[in-house]
Amino acid sequence: MTTCTALIVAAGRGTRFGGPLPKQYALLGDRPVLRHTLEAYRAASGITALQVVIAPGDESHYRNAVAGLDLPNPVVGGVSRQQSVLHGLEALCTANPDLVAIHDAARPFVRPTDIAACLAAAGADGVVGAVLGVRLADTIKRTDAAGTVGETIPRTNLWRAQTPQVFRYGALLQAHRDAAALGLSEATAMTDDAAVAERAGMKVVMVEGSEDNRKITTADDLDRGIAMESRTAFGFDVHGFGPGDRVMLGGVAIPHDHTLSGHSDADVALHALTDAVLGTIGAGDIGKHFPPSDPQWRGVSSDRFLRHAVGLLATRGGRIVHLDLTLVCEAPRIGPHRDAMVASIACIAGIDRSRVSVKATTTERLGFTGRREGIAAQAVATVETPRR
Ligand code: MG
Repeated sequence: MTTCTALIVAAGRGTRFGGPLPKQYALLGDRPVLRHTLEAYRAASGITALQVVIAPGDESHYRNAVAGLDLPNPVVGGVSRQQSVLHGLEALCTANPDLVAIHDAARPFVRPTDIAACLAAAGADGVVGAVLGVRLADTIKRTDAAGTVGETIPRTNLWRAQTPQVFRYGALLQAHRDAAALGLSEATAMTDDAAVAERAGMKVVMVEGSEDNRKITTADDLDRGIAMESRTAFGFDVHGFGPGDRVMLGGVAIPHDHTLSGHSDADVALHALTDAVLGTIGAGDIGKHFPPSDPQWRGVSSDRFLRHAVGLLATRGGRIVHLDLTLVCEAPRIGPHRDAMVASIACIAGIDRSRVSVKATTTERLGFTGRREGIAAQAVATVETPRR
């Protein structure tokens, strides 16, 4: 069986990216960019091992990103990409795979089928390397330093090279060692591994990939990068009236001749909204997160329940699109407090007021709400979450 180690280069510092984390560790949806990349390689047939090269000092970012993936310890890279790749190749000496697939960690959208196609091309007779890329569609101009056009370059047979770049392992290691010994670097156009192999006279072929396999360079690329899906979920709650002089509804204290009884502040509106938001991510219900048997939730303000649910959604990379609430009661009258409730719910959920709807109805004096025994609340939450 042919063995192929994927060497994932995550040692870059990405000066154009900004942000608190190097781009390979930033969240793309709910997972770090590096993790998306590694999952693509785990799904590619023919990849028999994974090895990541990281920058010195990034060990804790790395551990977070790969938790649970059962990977070997990372190799620490050098001051340039070329050096980092060489460190990674040297670390594979003992394993001595037939092929090595070198890939930039910041290309998380690579398709497993394209990876496999590169492996097949690199393993063909007489071929040493195969590079995933796309044919140029734009017209290419060469200018002087001032931007004045000097020539138009025919784009026939011109490609943009991506990764993976797959090579026979021993040949690429030797080519990299030779280039390093000669002091060849990015400054002398050794900007990818194929350039190192070409310089050594090896036959390298292009494999047609897709524009989807783009590199994450700026923070905007992260926002554009992940496909989202809509989800809708329902929440329902009832609390009965007890002695008191006000009810909490949507975080607003509304004067009334009774209060709502319950373990917390019995804010039936926020409870229904919390269950709706939890429902969008399949995270159970409010009782699972805040058991009524737990004395620490006695009398607490229910805004913390909704905040908790919204926080869980956010940690999954999701966001609320809309919250719709219907209160069912004969009294108190909701209309005069509707705007205050909309503002309160929007504030608790961290969204604009235009994304909150509060409605009220009665049951025509029928049933428990008609007999003024309590208030029922129904809520629908619509959210966007990363498609898995
Ligand atoms: Mg409740």
